[in-house]
Amino acid sequence: MNHEFKHFKTLLLENGILLIGFDYEGSSVNINNDESLEELEKLVQFALENKDVKGAVLLSLKQGNFCAGADLKKISLLRQNNQLDLAEGIISGMHVLLQKIEQSPKPFVAAIGGAALGGGLELALACRSRIVSDNPKTALALPEVKLGIIPGFGGTQRLRRIIGIPAALEMITSGKSVYARPAFKLGLADKCVTSVPSEIRTLEEISKERLSIVAINHALDLCRKKRMERKFGTSHTLLKFPGIRNVVFFGARLKVRQKTKGRYPAPERALDAVKQGMKMSAYRASQNVEKPIFMKCLRSQLSGDLMNFFFWQERAEKIMPIVPTPEKIGVIGAGKMGWQIAALLAQKGKQVVLKDVNQNILARAIGKISDAERTLLLKKIIKPHEYQERMLAVYPTIHMDRLSGVGFAMEAALERLEVKRKILEEFEEIASPDATFATNTSSYTVAEIAKNAKHPERCVGLHFFNPVSKMRLVEVVRASFSSEASVRAAFSLARELGRIPIIVKDGPGFLVNRILSRYVVEAVWLAAQGVKISRIDGAAKVFGMAIDSGRAMGPLELIDFVGIQVAVEVVKSLQSLGSRFEVPHYLVRMAPEEKHPLTFWKAGTENPETVKLIREHYVQGEIKISDDMIEKRLIFPMVDEAFRCLEDGIVNEPWQIDLAMLHGAGFPAFRGGLMTWAEREGMYRIAKELKFLEDAHSKRFASCDSLLRLFL
Ligand code: NAD
Repeated sequence: MNHEFKHFKTLLLENGILLIGFDYEGSSVNINNDESLEELEKLVQFALENKDVKGAVLLSLKQGNFCAGADLKKISLLRQNNQLDLAEGIISGMHVLLQKIEQSPKPFVAAIGGAALGGGLELALACRSRIVSDNPKTALALPEVKLGIIPGFGGTQRLRRIIGIPAALEMITSGKSVYARPAFKLGLADKCVTSVPSEIRTLEEISKERLSIVAINHALDLCRKKRMERKFGTSHTLLKFPGIRNVVFFGARLKVRQKTKGRYPAPERALDAVKQGMKMSAYRASQNVEKPIFMKCLRSQLSGDLMNFFFWQERAEKIMPIVPTPEKIGVIGAGKMGWQIAALLAQKGKQVVLKDVNQNILARAIGKISDAERTLLLKKIIKPHEYQERMLAVYPTIHMDRLSGVGFAMEAALERLEVKRKILEEFEEIASPDATFATNTSSYTVAEIAKNAKHPERCVGLHFFNPVSKMRLVEVVRASFSSEASVRAAFSLARELGRIPIIVKDGPGFLVNRILSRYVVEAVWLAAQGVKISRIDGAAKVFGMAIDSGRAMGPLELIDFVGIQVAVEVVKSLQSLGSRFEVPHYLVRMAPEEKHPLTFWKAGTENPETVKLIREHYVQGEIKISDDMIEKRLIFPMVDEAFRCLEDGIVNEPWQIDLAMLHGAGFPAFRGGLMTWAEREGMYRIAKELKFLEDAHSKRFASCDSLLRLFL
């Protein structure tokens, strides 16, 4: 071929298979935009017209990435410039190209050895066949609904033709990734091979990988065969009856509504697109049904907000360079958080020394790790040997000296200051000279814990959220004495564990717990004033708290979830910041020493013992308050505290608060983020309401200076 391409490499093999290697210039992942589309168009045309080409294999030169989909930065730029209409042209061009690939008499095969997301997967769906490698980075998904849009390159039309309606609806409406082996089982991939990706990422080297060889041979097979109809089970035949099909769509819609509570329209619009396109060709349906729906979603404020979160996350991940992290990590404390952190480390290939005070606790922790990994094994996400490797990677011990070789230790022990100080003292006695010590404390500052440390410069905070497998935020806490090397080590480890790291200044409650505590404290006060537990949690759920986790949750339920002792410790520690964190005494009474603590909820109803305790200490009967006022009392104090965090330099930019509160506290994404939402509500209005609440109820509602200035 006598044409130079910027984003593709090509190689025509003697057997007539053209290798098309996607290698988007200047990016670690491949992206679909006007530039790459134009080049791919030329390549497809060349393949179709050149008689030496019998078929083509589409592969990627990027390590671990087939194609990440549409160029969101360009979309965002178009949005900023009010030029979203221009996106329509690119989409139409892509539809024509994908139809050419799909209709080509010469087979196109996609060889996928990494993430194939959104437009990347849609490109593969237009190919005659898909071969996947079972390396852990292979993940296939149409995650558009997570950005408030629907698949735009024919995904809503082609996926159901390949894997059937129910599976396609599940994939499109959830946006979830399907890994290699499940993809093969679903029929999304025609073959799944074990293949080691070559280190040298040239087309010549990649063509020798098993994945490429299998894909090339498969393409040659397809050249010899006539087009084959896909075979589905009897359930597929039943779906040809409109009545049965309608039931399937109805069920899928119901499932979506239960999850989104009507707050995220995109999954339902995607369902509409699949349904309305049923009787058309993939091309016509993409153009006439999918595109108009896609454009409507793209123009919505919600999709703009959800894309902002995506960019903020990228910004947070790139805020500091990554350094290599130690192979062996210590985890001190094998309780609720410790075992989850140890499991995550083992999943990412680390050797873990897990320390606690007795063998029973350790045995329980190992049992929990085993249960979690076994679930992955049963779902075929991991292989039996991976299960074994992960289990063998965790070494339980009651002896601190077994941590002498670790390069990084995470302390997730009992929330008592003297316990944590003692642990640090013991660790320093045996630690290697360059080991970092990171505390997962929720309520103390790193400064308090490291008060007597011999090497305070090696101490930082690494604050995970519960449940660790779901909550992706980690606060990387920099104390005034923490060395740059320690902060980098903690940041890099958080990244390696697939977390979203927010670097925060040391201070009570760090960032998320400090802001969230205002909401929790207010909920406790509302209950003390006789407002029903169900009304308080209900108002928070209607606002959308924790909706994105799949299970909306109110503040009192949240206290039950994290454990009342932890909650009490957190608010107590925050009292050093002011009386706004003071709580009614009944909360402490709910967690008596040496006794099982009370909860707000019990078996799905308000816990009568707790209600009795509250009534004994405070009011009889419910005060008159509207749901709207409950919401204001819960949410507005968080805005005030967010401003205070900025004033204190805990973080420096509002987007960091928005991102952290989404991923660490369950502030609903559809509101655009705490600060963005407050801006839209009107800061002046919030300041005015807080002043009213201060005058009418309590000085705990008093605004901080920067918010007050907006009002005065
Ligand atoms: P937990 O009570 O479930 O577990 C604490 C563990 O520490 C226990 O197994 C205990 O035996 C062990 N321990 C006590 N002294 C020890 C010592 N000297 N050496 C080793 N282990 C020791 O507590 P948890 O909920 O797992 O919390 C652990 C830490 O994580 C706390 O600092 C907490 O504030 C923080 N945290 C908790 C949550 C949460 O939701 N529970 C969330 C984020 C952070």
